[in-house]
Amino acid sequence: MKIIDEDLIMTEAVPFLSKNGVNVHVLRLDKINPIVSGNKWFKLRFHLEKNACKGCYKSVVTFGGAYSNHIVATAAACENFGIKSIGLIRGEEPKIHSHTLQAAASFGMQFIFLSREDYKEKHVPATFKSEDYYIIPEGGYSLLGAAGAATIPYHKDKYDLVACAVGTGTMMAGLINSKKTASQILGFSTLKNHTNLESEVLNLLLDKNEKMHINHNYHFGGYAKYTAELIQFMNDLFDQTGIPTDFVYTAKLFYGIQELITTGQIKTGSELLLIHSGGYKAIFPYEKER
Ligand SMILES: *Cc1c(COP(=O)(O)O)cnc(C)c1O
Repeated sequence: MKIIDEDLIMTEAVPFLSKNGVNVHVLRLDKINPIVSGNKWFKLRFHLEKNACKGCYKSVVTFGGAYSNHIVATAAACENFGIKSIGLIRGEEPKIHSHTLQAAASFGMQFIFLSREDYKEKHVPATFKSEDYYIIPEGGYSLLGAAGAATIPYHKDKYDLVACAVGTGTMMAGLINSKKTASQILGFSTLKNHTNLESEVLNLLLDKNEKMHINHNYHFGGYAKYTAELIQFMNDLFDQTGIPTDFVYTAKLFYGIQELITTGQIKTGSELLLIHSGGYKAIFPYEKER
């Protein structure tokens, strides 16, 4: 079964956000699969295509929380390639598995629950330390992940500004590494006080002289936190455009961009592309998991 279909990716105009002479389009990476985040797939692809290939390892092993988009995306991508997957999940096993874990299990992922201490130290259980297992870092943060994100397909000549939501910064690094010289990538951090973010992105850049543009003002209280205003905005956006967003990543990106445009902080005449990185939680009506 083909789980991930890149042919479904498309670009659409967003008149709702196009104001003050800024022309906004959105790249719908969320279309590749209803529950696999588009950007996660791109971050994983080279790990799976080049390294963990079918039969090369007993299993892929990766880390994540019980609500992690990376976990479900890894499970689906491995299933797509016919590779086994194991998720090392933060914290004790919950009585009822989250929808994220249920989805990952439906793609054949097996779970091992690590104590918060072991998880923090990224202790890989001894069984998986052998060469038989291929380990993908938490969130896909890696040079290979950025290389995969660099293949996110969009019309490079058309846009002056490309904006994306930022967690680990792997997707942003890939977008910077593959951008056209004259264009700019603008990231919106979804974490509060993520002070190392710039240097973490820099680690993944091919050209260390690239200027970094990360906006830290739209985290809405921190990772997966939200306000009534953000939810209202998600609903308005959906009513006006039919574009579903999630309150962890993409809603914060869209909200931030709207505010920068309406307050005149984006240059008139700009052609702006928003990367809709997708996500399980993008399903509308959105589902609050925590
Ligand atoms: C994980 C995720 C991001 C953040 O990607 P990073 O490469 O970790 O910065 C953005 N959007 C969605 C929907 C995600 O699932």
